[in-house]
Amino acid sequence: MKLLNYIDGEMTEPASREYIDNYDPSTGQVYSHIPDSDERDVEAAVAAAEAAFPAWSDTSADVRSAILLRLAALIERDLEKLALAESIDQGKPVSLARAVDIPRAVANFRFYATAAMHLANESHESVGQAAINYTLRQPVGVVGCISPWNLPLYLFTWKIAPAIAAGCTVVAKPSEVTPVTAFELSKLSIEAGLPAGVLNIVHGTGPKVGSAIVAHKNVKAISFTGGTATGEAIARTAAPMFKKLSLELGGKNPNIIFADCNYDEMLATTIRSSFSNQGEICLCGSRIFVERPIYQKFKRDFSERVNALQVGDPLEPATDVGAIVSRPHFDKIMSYIELARQEGGHVLAGGQLVRPDGRCSGGWFIRPTIIEGLPFDCRTNQEEIFGPVVTIMPFDTEEEVLRYANSVRYGLSATVWTESLSRAHHFAAELESGIVWINCWLLRDLRTPFGGVKDSGVGREGGFEALRFFTEEKNVCIKY
Ligand code: NAD
Repeated sequence: MKLLNYIDGEMTEPASREYIDNYDPSTGQVYSHIPDSDERDVEAAVAAAEAAFPAWSDTSADVRSAILLRLAALIERDLEKLALAESIDQGKPVSLARAVDIPRAVANFRFYATAAMHLANESHESVGQAAINYTLRQPVGVVGCISPWNLPLYLFTWKIAPAIAAGCTVVAKPSEVTPVTAFELSKLSIEAGLPAGVLNIVHGTGPKVGSAIVAHKNVKAISFTGGTATGEAIARTAAPMFKKLSLELGGKNPNIIFADCNYDEMLATTIRSSFSNQGEICLCGSRIFVERPIYQKFKRDFSERVNALQVGDPLEPATDVGAIVSRPHFDKIMSYIELARQEGGHVLAGGQLVRPDGRCSGGWFIRPTIIEGLPFDCRTNQEEIFGPVVTIMPFDTEEEVLRYANSVRYGLSATVWTESLSRAHHFAAELESGIVWINCWLLRDLRTPFGGVKDSGVGREGGFEALRFFTEEKNVCIKY
């Protein structure tokens, strides 16, 4: 399979005519080739987006909405095909792609197709000065959307949908590690009747394509999701150009479990919050703090449940944990398990690679891993691993666990399990993170602000926040 760029409404070859290998992580084999694009392709995409901008930004919200709803319906029509493509490309169980990734891409387009119809401008009456102000909210122009490999279509469309709905035109780059569903989205955009140039998708590497999008003077805003180091590099280029920036970066999220919690619900959810998508969700809770009275029980029950998880072929319905997305990422996770051992950690479950029989024998699989006996401030507990690896630690007091939880450079999300209302509110206020889940995890309402504090990023996605990000306010003052 050979993928193509989507520029000015056409499927195009990269200017270089060069292609990069794309791997199926469950077999370790190359199964497709993606354009090795460069700044020439980005230049063509920006030119197409600029040419499309005047007409698209003038299109009424209801027309934009109708096109986005058509696109949502087409993704829904192709749900099975897209779920299979996502699973093969990313390594996640196809059951997860079918239940979460692709439905969420549909929801992203539906949500912003309808939200755009409800965005209103403010007015301020200056009483006593005989003046009235109204604030126009205008699309910023051509914007860049860059996304990672963990939830490919889910996160790609979480940026593209609000940008287009707000009246911007887009140059987007999916991760070169998981490009296939973005390629499918190009074809569906044509079928949905999206005008040429409104969405342009340029495939290729971060250093060539991503950085060319960020550095282009006519790209007015960058919406990025990915690693903190990449976010820093993007900010270094974009900040002196005064571009609007939304950065959703890494995490090292705490999962705090008090003895008074609803134990069964906590245990079932903690399995998911630790190992869903092979632990490759930025919101996974990888540092599990357990109040001492239930620590031993939790350790026993959690290890037993984790040892029973089925690791293997992502296409098998019974699989709980699929393949790690790439060989370099597999090596990185294994090196952190080794580091944890060197730091004195004791591996309670997992800790080793898995070689399934049959078609997946060459794939990159790691058994879900639980480590105990590490201090809160060691590297294993401070650095993002982004894989099926969690640590468990006992605690005695609220003050102590708050200090542990807030000790990292990241601040994306946190989970707290307690039946005490006052403790829940206290922790919600004191935890240094953009999102706090109490007695649940990954329960999403698309209207809510989504994003991190500290080194987990700047800005918020979700709800009207994203539409505001892709628009610029202009105040008009009229004296009467
Ligand atoms: P990454 O930063 O390596 O890559 C993300 C995207 O940026 C890719 O498309 C990549 O090609 C591109 N890129 C790389 N270098 C670039 C550059 N110099 N300029 C512009 N673009 C560049 O991240 P990844 O490995 O794909 O994803 C994993 C990371 O993403 C983890 O740190 C994870 O926590 C984070 N993440 C965060 C969220 C969130 O909402 N905060 C969600 C998902 C993933």
